[in-house]
Amino acid sequence: METDYKMTIGLEIHAELKTKSKMFCGCANVPLERTPNIYACPICMGHPGTLPVINKEAVRKVLLVGSAVGGNLADYTEFDRKNYFYPDIPKGYQISQYKFPLVSQGKISNINLTRIHLEEDTARSTHETPGASLVDFNRAGVPLLELVTEPEIHSADQAMNFAKELQLILKYLDVSDANMEKGEMRVEVNISVAREGERGTKVEIKNINSFRAAGRAIEYEFKRQSDLLKRGESVIQETRGWNEGKQATISQRKKESAHDYRYFPDPDLPKLIISEVEEFKKDNLKKLLPELPNEKRSRLLKDFGIKAEDIEVYINNENTGKFFEEVSNELKDKELIKLASNYIVSDLSGLSKNSEDNLLGNVTKNDFVKLIKMIKVGDLSSRGAKDILKAMFEDARDPEVIANEKGLIQKNDVEEIKKLVEKILGENPEAVREFKSGKESLLQFFVGLAMKETKGSLNPEVFKKILLEYLK
Ligand code: ZN
Ligand code: MN
Repeated sequence: METDYKMTIGLEIHAELKTKSKMFCGCANVPLERTPNIYACPICMGHPGTLPVINKEAVRKVLLVGSAVGGNLADYTEFDRKNYFYPDIPKGYQISQYKFPLVSQGKISNINLTRIHLEEDTARSTHETPGASLVDFNRAGVPLLELVTEPEIHSADQAMNFAKELQLILKYLDVSDANMEKGEMRVEVNISVAREGERGTKVEIKNINSFRAAGRAIEYEFKRQSDLLKRGESVIQETRGWNEGKQATISQRKKESAHDYRYFPDPDLPKLIISEVEEFKKDNLKKLLPELPNEKRSRLLKDFGIKAEDIEVYINNENTGKFFEEVSNELKDKELIKLASNYIVSDLSGLSKNSEDNLLGNVTKNDFVKLIKMIKVGDLSSRGAKDILKAMFEDARDPEVIANEKGLIQKNDVEEIKKLVEKILGENPEAVREFKSGKESLLQFFVGLAMKETKGSLNPEVFKKILLEYLK
């Protein structure tokens, strides 16, 4: 049984930092630039005899992340050379941090972090030209944050939640756009599978470029390793790549150990004493921290008492969250606020087909507040309200004007409704007889006729009440 096995996961996540210039040279930091090799210089191309210079802004951004996750900020730190050969790193080594990372410990989503350090991104190699591999240096030397968790994650969901929360934190701090599809954030999974209490063999999965792929890769690898173990075979320690087309992990190479990289302090770079730099001081970093996702969650719950799912929408979509808060500050009443939140999260998301960029369409705050108030006093049926919202989404317009144009103001006028009831009952004597002899399901039939008669502009509750009085 697969349930006999347990998976243990540690994550290694890289994120490109948003800085003006690259990590060790003056080249602009534009890793997604399409024209190859326009942001490149002898330093980031690794020419011999060049001298790297540390980017202060990149160091500060990593320290900021460290403060946000409650990590220990180093006082002494240094950069090391991680030696390996690959065409995308022509120096023959990557400048990274080994013994003295900028940040150690800290926590995200209840998962303990091992470390957060700073390094440089590699160039991008492409193998699409027949007979040749091409290297583009626009990305080479872009500051890269690397975060490593303790191996204490035990499911694909937990891993994905962690990665999503980290992405949010990086965005809130404005240190990285952290888009996985664009390669701005890259998740590597270390996964081992074993029976409870036993130790498995660690397999690393690379080439994951979406949260979905991360989940799939973990599920796949859990099954693959469990199956091997069930057959009495052993798992090989290796690096595997996630193949999106095949929906499988494919063996890439045997995993190097840290000692294979022959780390040693980079003699070209000075050691850093963090406390000696004004901008790196803890108090100064604290002052720069914005409201973080968890703080915002608690505040939205406390101030507005809305559902957790609604809160997540506002946490993940800055503009929608801002809109909700502005609307709520206008509405003040808790019931109205909940109603507004329902319409934002269910109906507006539906209209925008969940396009993250523009959940609100052309809806303005004032028009939306007015719409909610109209719904609350019973002027609009929920069907009518949805139609109006759609019109507001398409062109910014006053809901009252739209409602009048479309005849969507619900008829609450009792005298008028009485006339309608008399008309419908008069026209359907057979149905009235059946209803009186006990077929109460016909009530919905009468409501249907009335809605059709009034083109949906009737308040069905008021109609039902009056109808029942007549039928008694
Ligand atoms: Zn450069
Ligand atoms: Mn790395």
